[in-house]
Amino acid sequence: MSRDDEARYGRVCLLVLNVCPFTLRQVIDDYSLRHARSLSLCDFLEKNKHSLFHLYAKKCCCKHLQQNRSPLMYKSQWDSLFMQNTSSCQKGKQIDCPCKYDCKPGITTKVMDVTLCCLVINNICHGVDVNHIKTIREIRNNLIHAESARLDLLTFNGYMNRVKTAICQLAKNMSTTLHTDTVKKIAELENRLMDPVELRELRNLIIDQKRFTELEVVRMGLL
Ligand SMILES: [Zn+2]
Ligand SMILES: [Zn+2]
Repeated sequence: MSRDDEARYGRVCLLVLNVCPFTLRQVIDDYSLRHARSLSLCDFLEKNKHSLFHLYAKKCCCKHLQQNRSPLMYKSQWDSLFMQNTSSCQKGKQIDCPCKYDCKPGITTKVMDVTLCCLVINNICHGVDVNHIKTIREIRNNLIHAESARLDLLTFNGYMNRVKTAICQLAKNMSTTLHTDTVKKIAELENRLMDPVELRELRNLIIDQKRFTELEVVRMGLL
């Protein structure tokens, strides 16, 4: 075990937690404006509210019963996109349903972390290659649940290459500008020094994220 192992772990974490959201947010913005022809992100989310609602911890809504898989979206994530309104259900139902929520006005993709970006792209940005999203999610989960904050060289190279390929491809499929910006962000990350204080802060942030996820799971009765 060495400083290098810790720096490698830190670098991949920064790639996944900082660089990936930069690209994924842009993918969502571009998709909503150009492909989905929405007027704004809020307009895009509002149009897809029903699909998003079913990702959140609800098995049915006023429109239909859906025996779906266990929820994929945490309450905090749903709450970061939508807020309760004062309207009653369009179908007069008393249950919690999409009619009772509006997208937060003026919302931007900045509120979305890497996990939420992945969920949104997977579910409402049709045509975006979900295999790349799968790679990002898988490596993000491996990092968050890793037993130690260290990576050997082989694992590090594997993670870096897979995540870099995934975001560069996603960016390239959107626009040349996004591809160039993504490549630049990656190069900046690869060429910078990792400071021990920063590594410790990063580790704490990851522990917090893990705890928060566990709390959400309990709060939503998913256990
Ligand atoms: Zn429904
Ligand atoms: Zn309703």
